[in-house]
Amino acid sequence: MHLPILRYVVVCIVGTLYGAMGHAMNTLDAQSPDTPSGKPRWSIAIHGGAGGASDKWTDERRQARREGLEKALQIGRDLLANGRPSLEAVEAVIRSLEDNARFNAGRGAVLTNAGRAELDASIMDGATAKCGAVAGVTAVQNPISLARMVMTDTPHVLLAGPGADAFAVAQNVPQVPPDYFLSYRFPGADNDDDRDDFHLGTVGCAALDTMGNLAAGTSTGGTSKKLPGRIGDSPIVGAGTFADNQTCAVSGTGIGEEFIRHAVAYDIAAQMRYAGKSLEAAVTHVMTQRLKANDGGVIGVARDGTVVMQHNTPGMSCGMADSSGRFAVFFALENGGRPFTSGPDRGTTDAPETALAAGEDPDIKEITLLIQRQQRDWNAGNIDHFMDAYWRSEELTFSSGGQVTRGWDATIARYKNRYPDAQTMGQVRFSELEFLRLDGAAMQVQGVWQLSREAEPIGGRFTLIFRKQQAGWRIVHDHTSVQAD
Ligand code: ASP
Repeated sequence: MHLPILRYVVVCIVGTLYGAMGHAMNTLDAQSPDTPSGKPRWSIAIHGGAGGASDKWTDERRQARREGLEKALQIGRDLLANGRPSLEAVEAVIRSLEDNARFNAGRGAVLTNAGRAELDASIMDGATAKCGAVAGVTAVQNPISLARMVMTDTPHVLLAGPGADAFAVAQNVPQVPPDYFLSYRFPGADNDDDRDDFHLGTVGCAALDTMGNLAAGTSTGGTSKKLPGRIGDSPIVGAGTFADNQTCAVSGTGIGEEFIRHAVAYDIAAQMRYAGKSLEAAVTHVMTQRLKANDGGVIGVARDGTVVMQHNTPGMSCGMADSSGRFAVFFALENGGRPFTSGPDRGTTDAPETALAAGEDPDIKEITLLIQRQQRDWNAGNIDHFMDAYWRSEELTFSSGGQVTRGWDATIARYKNRYPDAQTMGQVRFSELEFLRLDGAAMQVQGVWQLSREAEPIGGRFTLIFRKQQAGWRIVHDHTSVQAD
């Protein structure tokens, strides 16, 4: 950053990336905006439950769950790409997961300690604040569709127990016998130990459609061996599900009692609405400051299409797709999906929690830490770590002295060429940082750089454009000038 690379030929690689996103099971780094404003036209995030680490699963279980997630995500992607409403996509995605015995919703629901399935679900329309939910239903194949009917066909928001079951009969929705829900006991299915993992896989979805409408939904069998009558967060609007076109759509998974206590889904939207936070900053706050480790995870889509997925459990089955062509599913996210403010292997203490606790704008704090870290990395002679702050894309632009280098690879190559050893690198200092937020996911940072080294000291100004990626803020454009004496 901010260090000139003057005498090198311009290399211009106009590249496309991201087709390969699917192979990366635990990183979600590059973002490819597909409109001039950098906003995806539509986005979708799904989850299939937070819980234990997937490395304890059999290959067969991993495969089955991956296929289930991919199938559901494809359904949502196809609907949104065809201009269908987010509410429809959310319902269709969740129905697909409810019909899949590998997830703790619909067919695969865990049972109460009385050996019965009691299912919870909710859905919310961010355009109108309309919502519907059912709790403790026992004979409905797709609780999410019943929840939607509560929203559309009644003046109510939440129907529970026998009344909800009776409503299902009156609405003529497909009913199933009690043993339908015992299907996870079929041979080769998840074994008994899995049933003791209270997170077998609640499902949820959040989506932004091409009309700019957000929607979210969640469906679950609840927690395993729960008391009959126990209701979790999934059917509670504001706890497990929330959608509001002004802010975000969110679905949670985890210990429902904690999500209810902290009004998790609404709290995220409220931080955005009242404190002007980004979705990522709001989710990070809830995941690190409100919920405890191992409480669960959240997926969300912001009104600008940004997808955020985080968990504080060892794993969370989840996935995302958007109109730029991204399509990926995960069993766990790097750093639980939280932005990195310290290198994964560098043991620094500037974790996001610290940054947020300071009560400053978390994005500015995070970017400041990133720039400070770059300074340390540079001064330690480590260009590779220094380059971690840059967007790993062929569309990264580095402009210096009127010449533009395009692409992460070309930029690091030129840095290494220009500064082959620690002596040439010298000691850098970045100062006088000025921040200008461009939108929720973009920030301009101006500053001054000074390089002291054996050869003559040099310095100048820089302007950086940061964009928020799943893994944290990254420099997407760097414009550096050398001070003329
Ligand atoms: N949140 C769900 C509940 O408490 C369970 C889960 O997400 O695993 O009912």
